[in-house]
Order: sequence, then C-alpha cells, then structure tokens
Amino acid sequence: MANIRLTRTSWNQERPHTLVIACSDGRLQENLDDFLEHGLGITHYDRLYAPGGGGALVSSGVELLRPDQYRRECRFLLAAHGIQDLYLIFHGPAEDGPEEAVCGDYRRKLPRATLAGLRQRQAQDADELKGVDWGTAVRVHTYRCEVTGDDRIQFVEL
Ligand SMILES: [Zn+2]
Repeated sequence: MANIRLTRTSWNQERPHTLVIACSDGRLQENLDDFLEHGLGITHYDRLYAPGGGGALVSSGVELLRPDQYRRECRFLLAAHGIQDLYLIFHGPAEDGPEEAVCGDYRRKLPRATLAGLRQRQAQDADELKGVDWGTAVRVHTYRCEVTGDDRIQFVEL
C-alpha cells in the first residue's frame, strides 16, 4: 500500500504575482520567509532557489553561460506566471560578519576576493540586474541577507 500523507493546507489556486529568487543555502530560508512575511507582507510567492540567488543571473565577471540560462528561466516565469514583483536576494556577512557566512557560490566564483570585495561585487551585480530588460514591466527589488558579527540577520536593500 502506498504511503500517502495529506498536508494541513489545501491547494491555493490563486497564482502569486511575486517571484523570489534566492540562494539554495538552507541556513537562511527561515530568515527569508520571516523577512518576506513580516518585513514586506509577502506570504504567497513563486520561488526560484539556485546557488547564489540573484548572483546566479549575473556573470560576476567570471561565469559565461550560466547567467544566460537562469535569465531564460526567470523570463519564462515572469511571463508565464504574470509576475509583477521580482525579488532578487543575495546573502553574505555584514561588514562585521563572519567569513563562514559568505555565499558558497560567490566564494566559488571569486575564491580570492576579500569580504569587502565580495560585498562590493554583489552590489555591482544587483545594479546590473536592475538594468536588465526582463521582457515584462516587472518591478525589480534587490536585497542582501546579511549575518552580523553577533549572529543576527538583517536584510539590506542593494
Ligand atoms: Zn549562497
């Protein structure tokens, strides 16, 4: 006999018109949900989790093919789901935050960068993404989820 488990919630037929693109890093998912719900009032949203979050959609000066692929996926979702607000989330340490909080994808792309250099790269990447033609009249919001020196989490608009 099949093992079937019903969820406590039923299907919500209404499509969200918000897409959140965030890093796959599971250390921050609950904080992200918390910020979206209590900071922005967003509880119903489409998700695209990929290494780097917003960073998956930019080259950061090193990636050549991957950003094109992710931008295609993003454009598909924007059009197919009638997305009006696009949230591009980056993450990493705050200015006084710990090295361990660096996004693994950014560390992979820029293995020798300093923390300050990585933060600057993310800000540049966010700027680049705000200028992309997404093919629809979507509002683009960019944030970095930062871990502070005392292990607090803050979201900073980029
Ligand atoms: Zn990451």
